[in-house]
Amino acid sequence: MLVLFSCKSDDNGSNVTDPDSGSTPVSAFDEFNPDAVTVSFDGDEITIESNGLPNHTSPYWEETNPLYIEPVIAVALTPGRIGGDRSYSLTVPTSPQIASTSTATGLGAIGISVTGVPIFNDLEGPNRPLEEVIVETFDYAGAHNGPSGYHYHIESYDVPENTELSYDDEKLIGIMSDGFLLYGRREMDGAYPNDLDESGGHLGATQHSGDEEFYHYHIVNEFYLGNVIALFAGDLQGTPNAIF
Ligand SMILES: [Zn+2]
Ligand SMILES: [Zn+2]
Repeated sequence: MLVLFSCKSDDNGSNVTDPDSGSTPVSAFDEFNPDAVTVSFDGDEITIESNGLPNHTSPYWEETNPLYIEPVIAVALTPGRIGGDRSYSLTVPTSPQIASTSTATGLGAIGISVTGVPIFNDLEGPNRPLEEVIVETFDYAGAHNGPSGYHYHIESYDVPENTELSYDDEKLIGIMSDGFLLYGRREMDGAYPNDLDESGGHLGATQHSGDEEFYHYHIVNEFYLGNVIALFAGDLQGTPNAIF
């Protein structure tokens, strides 16, 4: 197991890397779906590449695909199916830093999930927040299809068909474009964190970091609309990197 924590602060407090943000624990990348995602480490950078194809069932698969299921949550489907020649690539620092100012997220991919599916924010178009008619198109994974492919907007649902994805737990969700990891609503001890900043972030340890604290986000435990919970509706606290 490759362990790549950067220099820890010593007793006199000197610190080579940012003392506030820590380093991303490398073992977190073991959680990513290897059929879709390739993670490569190069010096002080990590590159995450994905073909965007999830390892779970969905009504958005072609009906001939073994992972196709009838809708269990969605009441209407957006046009298009999972597939096509997608690729997503994100390069982030191994020790991302909190920026002096936060940055609003844009349309399109704002992170890459552990399944390989891109994470979108709480907008469906310019100034168009997720609304009932859009929520109705989400499958149990909290995803639907769009011109740029299949993507997640909201936390997945607690249904028997969901055997892969985080629902109200501590699982890793993915990595955001600023390099900070996104976890489920709970901490590894099962509690909801009570010290999150406005983006759902805080400094702490996770199941991947041993005793090391590092800055990471959680899904904010607040209903966004009806019974849905947005994966990430705030600003990025780090510096966004392009996902292309
Ligand atoms: Zn969408
Ligand atoms: Zn935490």
